[in-house]
Amino acid sequence: MSTHQDLIDRDRKVTFHASTHLRDFAHGDAPGRVITGGKGINIVDKDGREFIDGFAGLYCVNIGYGRTEVAEAIYQQALEMSYYHTYVGHSNEPQIALSEQILKLAGPGMSKVYYGLGGSDANETQLKLVRYYNNVLGRPQKKKVISRQRGYHGSGLATGSLTGLKAFHDQFDLPMAGILHTEAPHYYQRSAEQENMSEREFSAHCAAKLEEMILAEGPDTVAAFIGEPVLGTGGIVPPPEGYWEAIQAVLNKYDILLIADEVVCGFGRIGADFGSHAYGIKPDLITIAKGLTSAYQPLSGVIVGDRVWQVLEQGTSELGPIGHGWTYSGHALGCAAALANLAIIEREDLTGNARDTGAYLQSRMQAAFGDHPIVGETRGVGMLAALEFAVDPETRRPFDPSHKVGARIAAAALEQNLIARAMPQGDILGFAPPLVTTRDEVDEIVARAERAVNKVTDELVKEGVLQTA
Ligand code: PLP
Repeated sequence: MSTHQDLIDRDRKVTFHASTHLRDFAHGDAPGRVITGGKGINIVDKDGREFIDGFAGLYCVNIGYGRTEVAEAIYQQALEMSYYHTYVGHSNEPQIALSEQILKLAGPGMSKVYYGLGGSDANETQLKLVRYYNNVLGRPQKKKVISRQRGYHGSGLATGSLTGLKAFHDQFDLPMAGILHTEAPHYYQRSAEQENMSEREFSAHCAAKLEEMILAEGPDTVAAFIGEPVLGTGGIVPPPEGYWEAIQAVLNKYDILLIADEVVCGFGRIGADFGSHAYGIKPDLITIAKGLTSAYQPLSGVIVGDRVWQVLEQGTSELGPIGHGWTYSGHALGCAAALANLAIIEREDLTGNARDTGAYLQSRMQAAFGDHPIVGETRGVGMLAALEFAVDPETRRPFDPSHKVGARIAAAALEQNLIARAMPQGDILGFAPPLVTTRDEVDEIVARAERAVNKVTDELVKEGVLQTA
């Protein structure tokens, strides 16, 4: 039988991993790990070492690991009918039932669901629909899309362009033309000139910056705005007070479509079926993935609102069948997994748990880190939380990036067998535990996180980076 080390060595020779230092991994200078199982909020590696997965994979395993009910549903569907394409009106029973269920959860104003495999391809579909929409309406110049700095919407050419993180642009000649980024809604990181703004004033400022960009580009050239209800990979940042209201007022003024990227927030993560419901967002298009299947199968979707749907229908009346499709759209196994996953979320009221245990998580984080000497902000909503580190929490002055404080704390957490994620920009540690997490498990997550943060704090004092802890 292969040992853990054998497997890692074989992997180094043959696999190219995402977000990895390719040279170091291939040559044995960066760690590897083979995951072999999971139960509830824990995962296990090939050595039998168990970790609390405080990030639910990549905020996706919402119902937790090892749910046999979902495995059974996939198996039964595979026995019956594993795949047939969904082009030219072909369907399968789980796809139909799933679309009904998604539209029920999404609420009024939403019309149809189109499926993909991951969040990136779903956002790719969104961009095509936005173009199609304006072409049918006879506005071929209205094509630009505005995203936000530090928004995350995928890593393809177009969707990586939507993503507002430098690492996803550098060396790939991105962003592509026609994709712009407006200010991130991150009140904590406001500039010195914005220091005395209230949250509401800051939201009004973000909306004013958006309007300025629209006017500079020409409103008749801007087609859509895309945003996550809660900024996710860019730092787990709930919107400042009044943000979405102010943004939507601008979009409505210039007839600009709103795409809500609910890949992280959708299906309960912040204690509502959709993040849009929690913040009064009225999207024209919604992107879903991750929590849709809790990652038991790859599946994503685009929920098309009535306003866009009417135009798509009109387009095909004029142009014939729409020129868009994936081989695996509406895959029967993905849809079966999603139905079983959504049934668990409903039966166990995991959305309610994300609200209640999520509130407990937030209060425990505040109690542990609210006054911590290197934590500038403790924030979150539902089962999303983040710690933003600062050399001086009082003035919110960040650490010099060379100290890699966020990454060191994530590594220290791992030593405690806790997985928390060093977010890709800034010294931010993110938490997104499965929605099945209990209060006792929250206590354990916070205790381990506290030990990790304290360990690195002590090291920083020893290194002279901090005066005292
Ligand atoms: N949109 C959001 C908000 C995401 O967080 C992600 C992934 O983390 C994506 C889109 C891209 O999804 P995928 O990695 O499945 O392509």
